[in-house]
Amino acid sequence: MLKSVVFTSLLLCSFALHGQNENVSLPLSPYSTFYAELISTLSKSFNAESPKEETHEPDAAWKNWLLVENYTFGKNRGDLPMIADLDALHPYFRDQVAMLIAVCKTKGIELAVVESYRTHSKQNEYKAMGKNYTRSVGGKSKHQYGLAVDVVPMINSVAQWENAKLWRKIGVIGEQLGFRWGGRWRSLYDPGHFEWTGGLSSYNLSLGQWPVIPKVPNYPCIEEDLSQLTKYWKALEIEQSSITRKEIASSKMN
Ligand SMILES: [Zn+2]
Repeated sequence: MLKSVVFTSLLLCSFALHGQNENVSLPLSPYSTFYAELISTLSKSFNAESPKEETHEPDAAWKNWLLVENYTFGKNRGDLPMIADLDALHPYFRDQVAMLIAVCKTKGIELAVVESYRTHSKQNEYKAMGKNYTRSVGGKSKHQYGLAVDVVPMINSVAQWENAKLWRKIGVIGEQLGFRWGGRWRSLYDPGHFEWTGGLSSYNLSLGQWPVIPKVPNYPCIEEDLSQLTKYWKALEIEQSSITRKEIASSKMN
């Protein structure tokens, strides 16, 4: 539902623009249908037990985002739920990630999205869990700008964290799409992590700069999309920080 709402609004937005300027071509992404199908399959396979009630208010669209609970992929990822929805990402990066998933699929590799956008609260939870989880405090990870994603290959619904051969294949595909791949990192080997910043540093991002996107005509409403996305991220931050506060309060009582 959300995908169709987002997609429809993108179309409406592009038609509006088209009316003003005949030279603007329609930003139809060649893989959007595939992307929608893929995401609905992923949602079904991993969220079968907890169907969420959907909200139809545009300002609350973030409430429909796909969440992943701890241990869903066989690993301890902390108590705060992970956001695994690609719509929580920067639109250009989101489509590149959908492309990564699609290309992997053509090569027989099923990827599951473990985490997309990450709140500061979630980042700080990882930081507190130790150096095997992250080197970055809240605000320093590309996940906090919707410009990083964590994926894992699945075989028969089992996450393949230790399959180095598979990771290499996925890593190469990701790099061909222009991503930085965490599988190249020595100090914290992180093969499921892919990011793209268009050359911006964490410092640039923290100042509120957005990367310049390569396929501008495909994103006629990028400014509006990003400002809407930022509102969703803020709403999520409030929700997750309230969970964190409740946990701290209850642990103090125990
Ligand atoms: Zn990551």
